[in-house]
Amino acid sequence: MVNLDEYYMKEAIKEAKKAEELLEVPIGAVIVHDGKIISRAHNLRESKQNSLAHAELLAIDKACKIQGSWRLEDTTLYVTLEPCPMCSGAIILSRVKRVVYGASDPKGGCAGTLMNLLADPRFNHQSEVAAGILASECGELLSNFFRGIRKRKKQVKQQEL
Ligand SMILES: [Zn+2]
Repeated sequence: MVNLDEYYMKEAIKEAKKAEELLEVPIGAVIVHDGKIISRAHNLRESKQNSLAHAELLAIDKACKIQGSWRLEDTTLYVTLEPCPMCSGAIILSRVKRVVYGASDPKGGCAGTLMNLLADPRFNHQSEVAAGILASECGELLSNFFRGIRKRKKQVKQQEL
């Protein structure tokens, strides 16, 4: 049997790879409703020079337009990296039912690592969270990307000498 969470996470990974081609930090997201991907997006912070252009926010924006509603009840959001505080906030406010993420983010993750905004009962909505789906694949995309950046910086430095 196909593991559906892994199936959709692979689609989010495809999005992350699109970001990588643009020299963006490789993070991708898809939103699923009734077994159908209704929205897909990848990080575009550098291209847009906009700190709001995270994969999750862009995917939520598209999904709201497609559904004709700000309520994304009964949807599942798949993202390759644990959501930051901004995206976790948007997820709660959009009433996303379930969030599935790949790699944990020790520097910004607000879906269980630094805190869990998605499960805080003080908010009027909570999202179910599944962590660590294809975590190593998602994490390697990121670590390879940053390794490449350090290598390029080193080469530039050596050329300057
Ligand atoms: Zn974010």
